[in-house]
Amino acid sequence: MRWAISLPVAIVMLMALMLPGAVTPPALARPIRRHTLKPTPPKVPIDWDKLTQEASGLLANYIRINTTDPPGNELPAAKMLREKFLAEGIPATIWESSPGRAILAARLHGIGHHTKSIILLSHMDVVPANPREWQVPPFSGTLKNGEIWGRGALDDKGPAVVELMAMLAIKRMGVLLNRDVLFLATAGEEVGGAAGAGWVIDHKPELYSDAGYLLNEGGGIQIEKGRKLYTVSVTEKTPLWIRLTASGAPGHAAVPPARTSVTRLIAALDRLDTYRTQIRVINPVRDYFHELATLGDAPAQFNDLAKALRDDPAFARNFVESPSQNAQVRDTITPTVLGASDKTNTIPATAYAEVDCRLLPGSDSKEFLASIRKVINDKSIKSDVLLNFPPVSSPQKSLLMNAIRMVGHRFDQAPAVPRLLDGFTDSHYFRQKGIVAYGFIPLEIAPAEMHEVHGVNERIAVKNLQGGIERMVDLLEILGGREGS
Ligand SMILES: [Zn+2]
Repeated sequence: MRWAISLPVAIVMLMALMLPGAVTPPALARPIRRHTLKPTPPKVPIDWDKLTQEASGLLANYIRINTTDPPGNELPAAKMLREKFLAEGIPATIWESSPGRAILAARLHGIGHHTKSIILLSHMDVVPANPREWQVPPFSGTLKNGEIWGRGALDDKGPAVVELMAMLAIKRMGVLLNRDVLFLATAGEEVGGAAGAGWVIDHKPELYSDAGYLLNEGGGIQIEKGRKLYTVSVTEKTPLWIRLTASGAPGHAAVPPARTSVTRLIAALDRLDTYRTQIRVINPVRDYFHELATLGDAPAQFNDLAKALRDDPAFARNFVESPSQNAQVRDTITPTVLGASDKTNTIPATAYAEVDCRLLPGSDSKEFLASIRKVINDKSIKSDVLLNFPPVSSPQKSLLMNAIRMVGHRFDQAPAVPRLLDGFTDSHYFRQKGIVAYGFIPLEIAPAEMHEVHGVNERIAVKNLQGGIERMVDLLEILGGREGS
């Protein structure tokens, strides 16, 4: 297939070179739609403004279906998305992992039989929203000042609409990709993914067995110092959630023994609080900061972060003062839940704390737990693992990364940079199956908007929605066309 498509393109390019004054490529700021260069098949032009209106309406309706998790109740949302695909002639199926918890898959067939498909992943559930804190009702999907407001606008219903509308646009244009595109919308991501992505991995292997690539939340078009960066999460920190339980004799608080379950627990947490984990710079973090160093007024030390953190103590101190930077170079330990007596005058037999540890790829959970026990240095305190899974990374180099790079260059003259996501998403389920999974949806998100994710007044600009769809179409065409194989 490769030569059949690339040969005519080569001829077009050759002809362009022969024309006087045509040697310089046209300005890249505004994209030249590659569609015009692609010789086959003839395409139906898309009215992007109309498509964007349709996308806005779809997103508003999607937001109006309240999928707050718990309980999630994603089924009505899955049904709405299924209707949208079916109306377009794209086969779509729903499964229920448990009553009301739905997973939707829709497959846009390509013409390639030997090329791996790409999964466009999203989750239908959202985190709770308190209407009293919002400027508009959080499940209203209100259009205001050119923005669509509501819980899920950015996480993760807006990105899902970008994925879905890009597939519809490709179908309507009559473009035949050389690989399948699988839209997968899951349940329960916000509470760990067991009801959605985890269920798919365990119960529907035939769905993803032909998949080689996956795009998911976790990265996008970031604006740094006025310049755009396409940040692509190639890996994530892995959670190690533990419960520490201290025991002691229960009794009356009027006659306390020297040590109780509560004082033992406090001492343990205090030791953890003063414990400093090692600084370690993994490759995507090194490369990300190296890229930032090229953006004007970033510290020169970003050029070689590992060296600077090792050799420049003042810089290192300053660097880890920022919680987000600290999380990029360290395993973190964060006590979050505490429980003991519910009576002031009663000493409880047990007191417990839950601790949210996040490990860098390369850190070993067992070793980490052993080091925590050593720091706590109290054998009477029990530690149980509540949640953990092996850290998995996707390679930084791939056809998918090349495609992202090309879109970044064509639309925004922006570099694509790998990064480490400090949270975790459903991507790890698919990385474990050897699928190259990137946290990247080509949506422009301003730093201020990042705070709206899981926060109040979450919203997305309609123009960004349109930009996202156009870029996603281009990305899929590159991956499923001339440059893919
Ligand atoms: Zn999300």
